[in-house]
Amino acid sequence: MSDDCIFCKMASGEIKPDIVHETDNVLAFRDLNPQAPTHVLLIPRQHIATLDELQEADQDLIGEIVLAATEVARNEGIAERGYRLIANHQADGGQTVFHIHFHLVGGRPMNWPPG
Ligand code: 5GP
Ligand code: ZN
Repeated sequence: MSDDCIFCKMASGEIKPDIVHETDNVLAFRDLNPQAPTHVLLIPRQHIATLDELQEADQDLIGEIVLAATEVARNEGIAERGYRLIANHQADGGQTVFHIHFHLVGGRPMNWPPG
């Protein structure tokens, strides 16, 4: 846990987001500023600041997050039409919260490439 990390506060229950899925290791909650009809953030409860800090030992954790995303997508009714699962890294990637997270975004068509 990192003291000044907002996502750690959600993981510990100090701040209560709109949770859609949770396990011992993973929390999924609605984004405060949704960019599509479905916009859910999936985080590990454990504080990892950026993707670049991931280690071999985190493989199962990342697999669990991705599988959780597919489950949330089915529950949200967007699995058939499609969605994006996005992880932003550092400045060029557009990362603003330094506790790793995947954005599950869907419910509308999206363009490629990203802006
Ligand atoms: P990033 O830009 O780091 O990839 O994404 C951070 C995301 O966290 C943004 O989409 C932003 O709207 C969301 N966010 C930031 N603060 C909060 C918060 O307090 N609650 C929730 N639910 N989402 C937040
Ligand atoms: Zn954190």
